[in-house]
Amino acid sequence: MAKILYGKNVAESLEEKIIEKVSEYTEKGFIPTLCVVRVGENPEAEAYSNSIEKVFKKLGIKINKINFEENISLNDFINEMNSLGRNKDIHGILLLRPLSQDLEKLKAFQYIPPSKDVEGITYESLGKLIAGEDTFFPCTPQAVIELLDFYNIPIEGRNIVVVGRSISVGRPLSLLLLHRNATVTICHSKTIDLKFYTRMADILMVAVGKPGIITEDMVKENGIVIDIGTNVVDGKLVGDVDFERVKDKVEAITPVPGGVGVITTRILALNLLKAIEKNENRN
Ligand code: NAP
Repeated sequence: MAKILYGKNVAESLEEKIIEKVSEYTEKGFIPTLCVVRVGENPEAEAYSNSIEKVFKKLGIKINKINFEENISLNDFINEMNSLGRNKDIHGILLLRPLSQDLEKLKAFQYIPPSKDVEGITYESLGKLIAGEDTFFPCTPQAVIELLDFYNIPIEGRNIVVVGRSISVGRPLSLLLLHRNATVTICHSKTIDLKFYTRMADILMVAVGKPGIITEDMVKENGIVIDIGTNVVDGKLVGDVDFERVKDKVEAITPVPGGVGVITTRILALNLLKAIEKNENRN
């Protein structure tokens, strides 16, 4: 039976560090503040924003919510972003998806001021990630790294297979692993014979969004499996991996729910603190 890599333990250890740093700032007289921007009405975006607010309240971080009209023009959007960029009381900006089709097409998220890009989604952050420079790293990939480090799972020299190559998860995760000297293979929907690659993985990471895509015969005996996928099946949250069967074959595995997802909000908080630090150094 595999060791279950719970995200809660990692989240709690990160929380201690965050609370300590936040209290240093509040003693200096200011409260770390995240601005959560929503475009139009969307119940999922609202639920996500509420869940962040709940965690951040516990951490002592303030949330400032802004809701733009669904049909906001790109010009107005850019002006609003610039004004948030200048606002000294806002330290980070989280732009919730979905955006309107027009804003999505125009890649509106690129107008987030890079110094407040706590999700690491602007081209400036992603470019620095490719260059191996310190920057804001996207939350979910960084959550995976924190989980491996917390459980003392070595990365260097390991044969790691990442299934999924999205710009927010698979790709940045592969780069973070490469910077830690793993040998990384990236698989995607056009990969021929996915099982050939997944079976070779010392550590298999799956970010696809298809429940049960990874079955018991696709994993290496005594390997490690990190399931990043989140899917709702019959009203229940499940990952991409057939957890019940795979867990008997591997050395360690993350559960869904209760794995990587629990850690990401804490990474968002750490990125907010990083934004404050970077701005302090600039002044
Ligand atoms: P995405 O943008 O839809 O990307 C999915 C990736 O999976 C794509 O690269 C796609 O390949 C690949 N793929 C699709 N079908 C495949 C197949 N049959 N075999 C191999 N690869 C296949 O999704 P995402 O935003 O990266 O999210 C992935 C999953 O992670 C979702 O379940 C999402 O809910 C979850 N997620 C979790 C967290 C968290 O905090 N735990 C955060 C973000 C996302 P192509 O590039 O060829 O299309």
